[in-house]
Amino acid sequence: MATRTPVECPLCREVLTGRSLEEHLVDGHTKRKLAKFVVSETEAMNDGKTS
Ligand SMILES: [Zn+2]
Repeated sequence: MATRTPVECPLCREVLTGRSLEEHLVDGHTKRKLAKFVVSETEAMNDGKTS
């Protein structure tokens, strides 16, 4: 059995054991929450570049 590194959900900081991040995101978060996260990440990235 391979030991898998625990993955932390970037949205809710929940440590995922025994299930993939993808499964958690689909089951545990709404599309809107996911969209908001992507938007804020994108904005943060763009802020860093344009200065
Ligand atoms: Zn989560």
